[in-house]
Amino acid sequence: MVSRVIPVDPFDLVIFGGTGDLARRKILPGLFRRFIAGQMPEGSRIIGAARSEHDDAEYREVARAAIEEFGGEEKKDPALQDFLGRLHYVAIDATGEGGWSQLSGLMRDGVVRAFYFSVAPSLFGPLAERLHQHRIADGDSRIVVEKPFGRDLESAKALNATLASHFDERQIYRIDHYLGKETVQNLMAIRFGNVLFEPLWNSHYVDHIQITVAETVGVGGRGAYYDKSGAMRDMVQNHLMQLLCLIAMEPPAQFEADAVRDEKLKVIRALQPVDAHHIVRGQYDAGEDSPSYRQDSENPRSFTESFVAMRVMIANWRWAGVPFYLRTGKKLKARSSEIAVVFKDLGHSMFEGDEARHRNILSIRLQPNEGIDLQVTIKEPGPGGMRLVDVPLDMTFADALGPDGEDVPDAYERLIMDVIRGNQTLFMRGDEVEAAWAWTDPIIEGWERRADVPKLYEQGTGGPEDAQMLIHRDGRRWRDIKG
Ligand code: NAD
Repeated sequence: MVSRVIPVDPFDLVIFGGTGDLARRKILPGLFRRFIAGQMPEGSRIIGAARSEHDDAEYREVARAAIEEFGGEEKKDPALQDFLGRLHYVAIDATGEGGWSQLSGLMRDGVVRAFYFSVAPSLFGPLAERLHQHRIADGDSRIVVEKPFGRDLESAKALNATLASHFDERQIYRIDHYLGKETVQNLMAIRFGNVLFEPLWNSHYVDHIQITVAETVGVGGRGAYYDKSGAMRDMVQNHLMQLLCLIAMEPPAQFEADAVRDEKLKVIRALQPVDAHHIVRGQYDAGEDSPSYRQDSENPRSFTESFVAMRVMIANWRWAGVPFYLRTGKKLKARSSEIAVVFKDLGHSMFEGDEARHRNILSIRLQPNEGIDLQVTIKEPGPGGMRLVDVPLDMTFADALGPDGEDVPDAYERLIMDVIRGNQTLFMRGDEVEAAWAWTDPIIEGWERRADVPKLYEQGTGGPEDAQMLIHRDGRRWRDIKG
């Protein structure tokens, strides 16, 4: 079962890095699901372009194997053969001349042209340049750029400048797959499509907000890359920052790309600098049978953080005095991502013996089981007076929306279709990315200057003890990390 179909125009999607991990794991299986859903109109093609030599038939086998390995239920769908027939391949050298005239020869007029840069960031510039030089991209073409978008403000500015010399901002789609998640968009629907929440969405009623992105995996396998990055660059600057923006932004006048992105940008610009007292870095220690971060990253003297927790304040009228607690890390207790809006306690309880400690909590789960749950207070059933209990009103999207619980498209497939439609609402604009780095850079520079040593934490926990203290000091506590 796949989601309802909104028609798109015929397209040619070129996937640079079409044989790579991301293409095999996410992009190709996602495109197949869209094909089954009828969102790949007659005449649309997918063209893999990567370094290795393949012909079309071999690339189709690469795609078939990827869908079999990483696809869900759809891999049994008889449409697979037809889908594979839409695939083509060109061997290309992103930094040289090989393959470009062949790719140019494949391009057609009258269809949407989209180019997905699913390659290492060092190749984004060379690809943009060659697409331009060989006149493969026209004024309506779109490019999709993967993360990481720079490693600091300076490199992000340089990358923006390179892309801008060949493409207009309206042609550039900087992907953050968190924004493609059903729940994240639902966050906007909940806030701006209901009368119930928005009036309470401010410092008068909200006590604090928690954003958690917890993983159980370590960095094994990509340790060399991660060690130059760390949780702050890899997760906070992009994913957590985007979630924070959607929670905190003012209502845009329309649900339209620049209106939404203008509001997100204002949030980033209103973030206060974070001092060392309000941030905790951690690194996972060796477990009984599992290696430490330093072993996984093969850097015995690494000071890179695999965990970060912080208290962030937004200096504007709506959020003055409301802490946003962010945390993300690897090798934690469970794989779980959640945004929790914790409302203030009741001012007074009329029920005898009740301590007025009941709290409404709106929790938005990104994984697992995307959904929303609202903690409300009710009477405990049964005789014997008014005893109050807090219970969740739970809406798990898979149960609520799909007859067989699978009607939620994956973030990548949704975002790719947005590219084809020319809708940039769920993509980051260049100035947003730069503003996020401008806020993150001083924090990272502070660590580097002080040669800050991350606190070791035990695997399978909620991170270092100091992260608990960070929030306990304010008389609050983290929500449990539940898988
Ligand atoms: P990968 O190393 O698995 O694949 C790289 C691809 O680039 C291959 O197809 C390779 O043939 C091609 N390539 C390399 N050098 C080339 C050249 N000179 N000319 C032409 N093609 C060349 O990488 P990946 O994991 O698929 O990641 C791709 C991008 O996506 C990176 O920017 C990465 O940061 C980002 N990303 C990946 C994931 C993931 O889950 N893998 C998640 C988020 C973001």
